[in-house]
Amino acid sequence: THNIERHEYDVVVIGAGGAGLRAAIEARQQGKRTAIVCKSLFGKAHTVMAEGGAAAAMGNVNPDDNWMVHFRDTMRGGKFLNNWRMAELHAKEAPDRVWELEAWGALFDRTKDGKISQRNFGGHEYPRLAHVGDRTGLELIRTLQQRVVALQQEDYEKHGDYEAYIKVFAECTITRLLKDGDAISGAFGYWRESGNFVLFDAPAVVLATGGIGKSYVVTSNSWEYTGDGHALALLAGAKLINMEFIQFHPTGMVWPPSVRGILVTESVRGDGGVLRNSEGKRFMFDYIPEVFKDKYATTEEEADRWYTDQANNRRPPELLPRDEVARAINAEVKAGRGSPQGGVFLDVSTRLPAEEIKRRLPSMHHQFKELADVDITAEPMQVGPTCHYIMGGVEVDADTGSSCVPGLFAAGEVSGGMHGSNRLGGNSLSDLLVFGRRAGAGAAAYVDSLPARPKVAAEQVDAAKEEALAPLGRSGENPYEVHHELQRTMNDLVGIIRKANEITEALGVIEKLKERVRMVGAGGSRIYNPGWHLAIDLRNMVLVSECVARAALMREESRGGHTRDDFPAMDPEWRRKLLVCSTEDGSTINVEVKVQPPMRDDLITLFDRDELKKYLTDEEMAEFDRIAK
Ligand code: FAD
Repeated sequence: THNIERHEYDVVVIGAGGAGLRAAIEARQQGKRTAIVCKSLFGKAHTVMAEGGAAAAMGNVNPDDNWMVHFRDTMRGGKFLNNWRMAELHAKEAPDRVWELEAWGALFDRTKDGKISQRNFGGHEYPRLAHVGDRTGLELIRTLQQRVVALQQEDYEKHGDYEAYIKVFAECTITRLLKDGDAISGAFGYWRESGNFVLFDAPAVVLATGGIGKSYVVTSNSWEYTGDGHALALLAGAKLINMEFIQFHPTGMVWPPSVRGILVTESVRGDGGVLRNSEGKRFMFDYIPEVFKDKYATTEEEADRWYTDQANNRRPPELLPRDEVARAINAEVKAGRGSPQGGVFLDVSTRLPAEEIKRRLPSMHHQFKELADVDITAEPMQVGPTCHYIMGGVEVDADTGSSCVPGLFAAGEVSGGMHGSNRLGGNSLSDLLVFGRRAGAGAAAYVDSLPARPKVAAEQVDAAKEEALAPLGRSGENPYEVHHELQRTMNDLVGIIRKANEITEALGVIEKLKERVRMVGAGGSRIYNPGWHLAIDLRNMVLVSECVARAALMREESRGGHTRDDFPAMDPEWRRKLLVCSTEDGSTINVEVKVQPPMRDDLITLFDRDELKKYLTDEEMAEFDRIAK
């Protein structure tokens, strides 16, 4: 290990999206020497792409909103499979996290009386998303980066070194976590540009690596979302939950092919956009599921009135949770009522004046003009489902973000539990802030509690080095071909609608792909070599895909982001069950069933009996009746 670049920190945060930055800020504020490591450029994370906003029950637009309403909406959105403690903390703390951002310099859009404005979104009872046009994520990241710089300036004043307590390592990819016995001792990675290795010696690691979308062909996610954090956690002995639940966002671009999957924000529907099929019909009225019947308008007239009078009308069905809308679009296209390029029509042009569209949805206007030569102020967009978000991730303690591996923490999209079987739009940005802060604090407290610093073992570093170098020495399989086959398999066989025989077929392909990944070769040197980087990422994508497929095969029901054609109903028995993925040998995935603890009495009694009946078992209902008395 003597010739490897080496750094010592108290806390290493992997990922510089909202979760990573908020965690790093917290760890530094608690006096810990903190590194932020990110695979892409600093400032280029998923978070920056978030358009709609951050959900927080501030009650600025509708004073009836409060954390309890937000909690209920979140649990409903996740079909009651959510970790209720996380949903509770999230709903209670999101407003403080948004106000804190404002104190750090974020410029949110305003209501007429000068408060932070809030917009409507699918599944949220009241206008709740704090936003900056349709560029909210950009402002969030800008603010958090500015806060990092402010802290670095403080450190300069005190220690004469800007980077004394918080330093960013950008374009640096972590490939292995290191352990001393059971506990985390550091992380190993390489610089994208030079291919040189780097070692972080640290007792605490916070994973904030985001999603896994690049395992699918059609996705709103960008190149770096290869499930690295999910895989790093698994390989370090942590557990992943809810991996069968993947959110297919209903509205991705479908045309031209080069941009297929790029997101069309839900704000288009929140601000009045409607979905139509090739017959011109507003088809969402045909797809309101039983559990949501009393909350959504049944006629176009009522739906239209809702935009101006929400107290006396029900919401348009275009604003159903994402899983419902995605399935409906899928069904319309399958039934032959799709748009020419295989999507459906999303129209805002006949709903709002052109100027208003340009003001409210500037990036959508720009995106369609530039990429598809479509003017959304004059014509409809063509849209279809796209792999967007994974609800599943590292199983963590709700309060501290700690995993079952001492010293390993996770926050944001890489963690699991908060969103249950389906995430509501806007609940991710707030999740990042709430649980990023908690994981940073959890890591700091853990470091304080340690009697001695865990040691990095030289053999582990050598093994990590060898593993990373292996593809360079081979002339075998082409990483791009292997990747494409994995993406097609996941898209076609473990996609939005699933069946046992197809998932089994996918698992067969994955088994073969595992072999091929071991033979993957990359030509060229270590210097800026994307083929080599992909060869390294493939290990992660295959591991994560196997978790998704195994859990999807096991869960014999349909719920949220998991739809089984062969088990179309939601099953109350399955609601209580979490599927927990782990690996012992670093290659074979085990899935175990774990029963969730029942919801705390004061939380479950926030719901009406009639609603709970749709989700809970008879036994659970009997318990509810006992408590409610
Ligand atoms: P990310 O922001 O994804 O950041 C991950 C970080 O980890 C990056 O810095 C990356 O470089 C780094 N990383 C990954 N692997 C490694 C590795 N091996 N080594 C080192 N670094 C690594 N949610 C909302 O709530 N509201 C919205 O309006 C919204 N709009 C969205 C629009 C789009 C187009 C997309 C794609 C998502 C949207 N989401 C939205 C979802 C939300 O943006 C993401 O879930 C969220 O930003 C994830 O944040 P994160 O901090 O967990 O990770």
